[in-house]
Amino acid sequence: MTDNRVIIAGGGIGGLATALTLHQIGVQCVVFEAVRELRPLGVGINLQPNAVRELYDLGFTQADLDGVGMPAKEWALVGLNGNDIYSESRGLLAGYTWPQYSVHRGQFHMLLHRKLVERAGPDVVRLGSRVTGYRKNPDGSVSAFIEQADGTRSEATGALLIGADGIHSAIRAQMHPNQPPIHWGGAVMWRGTSWGKPIRTGASFVGLGTHRQRMVFYPISHPDPQTGLSMINWIAEVTMDNAEGWKQAGWFRQVPVTDFRHHFENWIWDWLDVPALIGQADNAFENPMIDRDPVPTWRDGPVVLLGDAAHPMYPTGSNGGSQAIVDARVLGAKMVEHGVTEAALAAYDAKLCGPISQVVLRNRGAGPFGLLNMVDERCGGTFDNIDDVIPPEERAAFMVGYKAAAGFAIESLNAAAPTIAKDARVRASQAV
Ligand SMILES: Cc1cc2nc3c(=O)[nH]c(=O)nc-3n(C[C@H](O)[C@H](O)[C@H](O)COP(=O)(O)OP(=O)(O)OC[C@H]3O[C@@H](n4cnc5c(N)ncnc54)[C@H](O)[C@@H]3O)c2cc1C
Repeated sequence: MTDNRVIIAGGGIGGLATALTLHQIGVQCVVFEAVRELRPLGVGINLQPNAVRELYDLGFTQADLDGVGMPAKEWALVGLNGNDIYSESRGLLAGYTWPQYSVHRGQFHMLLHRKLVERAGPDVVRLGSRVTGYRKNPDGSVSAFIEQADGTRSEATGALLIGADGIHSAIRAQMHPNQPPIHWGGAVMWRGTSWGKPIRTGASFVGLGTHRQRMVFYPISHPDPQTGLSMINWIAEVTMDNAEGWKQAGWFRQVPVTDFRHHFENWIWDWLDVPALIGQADNAFENPMIDRDPVPTWRDGPVVLLGDAAHPMYPTGSNGGSQAIVDARVLGAKMVEHGVTEAALAAYDAKLCGPISQVVLRNRGAGPFGLLNMVDERCGGTFDNIDDVIPPEERAAFMVGYKAAAGFAIESLNAAAPTIAKDARVRASQAV
């Protein structure tokens, strides 16, 4: 280990993936996480093959991931008439060398934490420690200001500071004091889980509805051998008038399902009963679909942003969590190349900030769900045969374009060398 400690603000998926990567390449780090206790919060997220590849390289096994989710086989968009708009295979079935996993966000987060503590010891994550800002020191080091849950204040000094503190990042706010407020485009999501029989391939991600109102659902657990039921993650989404801004006090709260189920009361087919699916859950998480305008750089000297702090994005592309993992690995690769230095942060920023900011804007334009906007523009959402509305080649080209931009185009990902070569380490001589 070098004695060049890296400070990480935030112990979410991005912060913990960074700590695991730094431990792997022999760089000492400490994670300051605001909450007093890590709990398995959230519902489903997708880990795209580019992120699963990195997890395998970090020593996670298929059994680890099967314990918190299941491999996805299909991504499908279905109109309100029940007809397919688009479907494609996902993960191994699509020809990727690595699977795509649909996982429970909270359980996956706990898995990252368990692995990190097993490998680096319990002191690596300091809970109840909020990072409120930073100071760049004349000797090139950086100090993070820490506020403990009991109000005690202190400072931690290290070679570099990684801001992985999510969409409301304090590090980003200091780095970009004039950034505009959070951007809300009008969509509201209610997310929950229910037990149900998985449809189609048994592991399908389904987006059902229109560009202004839809249900997204997919299983996030292998079916129970006795009952055949899986935990189904669902997101009920409605677009509203956002002229007056978001009225609720917070951005994330639990609400009873009776608050929103009426929007979907007629969504009943012989293959799916949406009100029944929603009704099986008592509560759901309500959150507006928000992001932030991209910033021109994620770096300020020895400080850099990562994950949602760097690129908060609409979940339309199912790649926010995956990109946080990829960020961590690219940052690690740049440290292997340049040492624990500002040059490593600059190389990471140069590689990712521009392209991933474009993905943020693409997701604002509905990401892969943009096909629903095209259906609306061309036929008002009513169609018998989707081929008459958007020819198959045009649909396929649209999806290929999205995957290439988000970094999981099949051929290039399969052919790419590992982000961090096996056994690569930061040498002590590379320390500043
Ligand atoms: C509680 C929670 C539930 C979520 N549920 C879902 C979901 O169901 N589906 C989905 O698609 N996405 C969900 N997300 C978002 C998703 O996890 C992220 O988009 C993605 O994983 C990127 O992760 P991140 O680590 O960059 O950010 P985050 O996951 O937001 O993690 C940031 C971490 O930093 C901590 N933190 C914040 N401010 C500070 C500070 N000043 N100092 C120290 N620590 C700080 C937070 O407590 C959090 O642990 C959720 C996020 C959270 C925090």
